[in-house]
Amino acid sequence: MSGRWTLLVAGLLLLLGVGWWVLSPEPGEVRQVRLLLGTTVEIVAVHPDGAQLNQAVAAAFDEIARIERLMDPARPNSDVARLSVAAKALVVSPETAEVIALGQALAERSSGAFDMSLGRLKALWGLDGEQPHLPAVAEITVALRGSGPGSLVMDGRTARKAAPALQHDLGGVAKGYAVDRAIALLRQHGVTSAAVNAGGDMYLLGQRQGRPWRIGIQHPRQPGTVLCAVDVSNRAVVTSGDYERFFEQNGQRYHHLFDPATGYPSGRCQSVTVIADTVAVADALATALFVLGPEKGLALLSAYPGAEALLVTADGALHRSVGWQEVVTKNGGSRKSS
Ligand code: ADP
Ligand code: MG
Repeated sequence: MSGRWTLLVAGLLLLLGVGWWVLSPEPGEVRQVRLLLGTTVEIVAVHPDGAQLNQAVAAAFDEIARIERLMDPARPNSDVARLSVAAKALVVSPETAEVIALGQALAERSSGAFDMSLGRLKALWGLDGEQPHLPAVAEITVALRGSGPGSLVMDGRTARKAAPALQHDLGGVAKGYAVDRAIALLRQHGVTSAAVNAGGDMYLLGQRQGRPWRIGIQHPRQPGTVLCAVDVSNRAVVTSGDYERFFEQNGQRYHHLFDPATGYPSGRCQSVTVIADTVAVADALATALFVLGPEKGLALLSAYPGAEALLVTADGALHRSVGWQEVVTKNGGSRKSS
């Protein structure tokens, strides 16, 4: 699988010159890919002193791996795994505490559309494993019991569950946070221009060849086609879509973005792209807006100054935040990506 295709599957695509990946990297630029956070993480970076570049990129990947060890529910000693078996209170790492606090703020602002207490529901649907399936209504009711914004409270570094059986899942925000941390490490190492993409969660640092980075947003129903392109610098761009992880049964698509009000995948949108100052916030907002749909979603977005969004609703219609047009690349509308 080529780098371009990988980025496309992820929902976002770096629009660079045709064949750039293979044929014409900018002098002094490196591109490295690793499998982390259950996805393909790609870093493209430039350093004024080329000798430091590989070290900087290695430090950024190491930081992502460290965050994954803290927040991956499948690792027995991660904070999230320990929280799942904790009777009630647990002291977590400062990083996990920060992610939970950020997610809680969004859970409250979104009236529970963003919900980190859907761990049992996620396991029930099995969308992360080999055999996803449609659960029975009664099973969904049980999996949702006790969930909601009040089910996890942070007090400093102490996380307190409302009930022992609750299972929390930071999957809607941790990946974005890990990209923010990678960018922080790249900056610390003196990197001036970089793109970090973790399966559709991106940050674009500085500029590329004297211009903002150009990012193509994938059409949710036409693989290989770019819906539009945005030009961004020192910003996060995140897309959540129903085409990333799903199965179909009786002609119905079941995906991994759940409406906590019903316990079923939210049917309001096909994809949501959010631009914001940090990837963690953009990641969580993309999930929340996906669940809320355009009316309530864009109202929520207005509480985040400078954040912009593009929603593609179930009927294929596009809904944009007020400032979205300012970031859209004027000639990027119909470009084919492969
Ligand atoms: P990905 O980039 O992996 O597709 P997203 O950022 O789109 O991830 O978020 C999807 C993940 O968020 C799910 O796999 C699940 O762990 C979690 N999730 C699903 N629904 C919600 C929700 N309503 N609120 C918060 N997290 C959710
Ligand atoms: Mg998200």
